[in-house]
Amino acid sequence: MLFKDVIGQQAIKDHLIRTVKENKVSHAYLLTGNEGAGGLAIAMAFARYLNCLNPGEHDSCCTCNSCNKAAKMIHPDIHFVYPVVKKGSSTPVSDDFLSDYRKFTLTNPYFSALQWFSQIGDDKKSGAIYSEESQSIIRKLSLKNFEGKYKVMIIWLPEKMNDAGANKLLKILEEPPLNTVFMLVSENPGALLGTIVSRTQQIAIPPIETAIITEELVRRFSITTDNANALARLSLGNYVKALENFDTSGDKSGFMDMFMQLMRATYSRKIFDIFAWAEAVAPLSRDRLKNFLVYSIGMLRDSFLYNYHQQELVFLNEKEDAFVSKFSPFITYDNIMKMVEELELAYAHIDQNGNAKIVMFDMAVKMVGFFKK
Ligand SMILES: [Zn+2]
Repeated sequence: MLFKDVIGQQAIKDHLIRTVKENKVSHAYLLTGNEGAGGLAIAMAFARYLNCLNPGEHDSCCTCNSCNKAAKMIHPDIHFVYPVVKKGSSTPVSDDFLSDYRKFTLTNPYFSALQWFSQIGDDKKSGAIYSEESQSIIRKLSLKNFEGKYKVMIIWLPEKMNDAGANKLLKILEEPPLNTVFMLVSENPGALLGTIVSRTQQIAIPPIETAIITEELVRRFSITTDNANALARLSLGNYVKALENFDTSGDKSGFMDMFMQLMRATYSRKIFDIFAWAEAVAPLSRDRLKNFLVYSIGMLRDSFLYNYHQQELVFLNEKEDAFVSKFSPFITYDNIMKMVEELELAYAHIDQNGNAKIVMFDMAVKMVGFFKK
């Protein structure tokens, strides 16, 4: 990861580079920001810059031995700690999942905790940094520096540490080994021990600017600026969300038909059509059903805005626009919230492995009652 590959966040990159030039590198940084703002990417770029043998004005050199190893995440002085999931009876540490983490992060360092957990376990579990990890951290820090100038410990989501682990980490931060830099990348710093926070230099990472996400999406996927801008605006500065929405929009035509059929069947109160619809969509994967429910919430919100003449806030393709312009009068202050709640409830039930046919049928039947006749 180079600084140039970090999306936006120029002020933060400049600040970090300046600390190196002015010899003011802190022994512990706490990067705080929402999902998709790029905290992990920044930490990785900085770890590489700290150890680069010929660091440039704005970035690592890209060619030295240290850069080569950092680029593959195999630098012996750059360590990674991240939440993991229990599989058997033994308690795992980050290193048990290192090859997965490398693959995942090298492909794209913008990912959510949920995406990571589903990569290494199943969707149900939420990972943790177990207290056993502290031993591993201490062991790594007690080794002499192999070849780097700094030993860097990048801890992604330190808020996932339990109390015992956090207290051990605190001890290390209180007496940091020489030439060691901790980079804590947190999405929820409120959940950290206050004593840990006070030992770090805090850097707040703001959401990425819409224009910059737009530019990145256009560059990466060669989509139109209008499409990219819509995705960027909906993402609210969260690049993970922008990518997710981009994936979903790839299959939007299918969703559009599913949504139109659902609305027609429920509006016209045809119970057999509703049943047939539920039967037809039930075999889809849970992820696809969840994406469809999110899409439907978006369509209802767009219809509502459309109805109240806020068209400039609505981003739709031609076919969607044609449908929404006719459908929108039926989405009002009276029913929008109830409908959205019903879709969110269906989402939660699908997520909890509810029977898809029953969940989708129940949701559709409830919709019937929300349309005024
Ligand atoms: Zn280099």
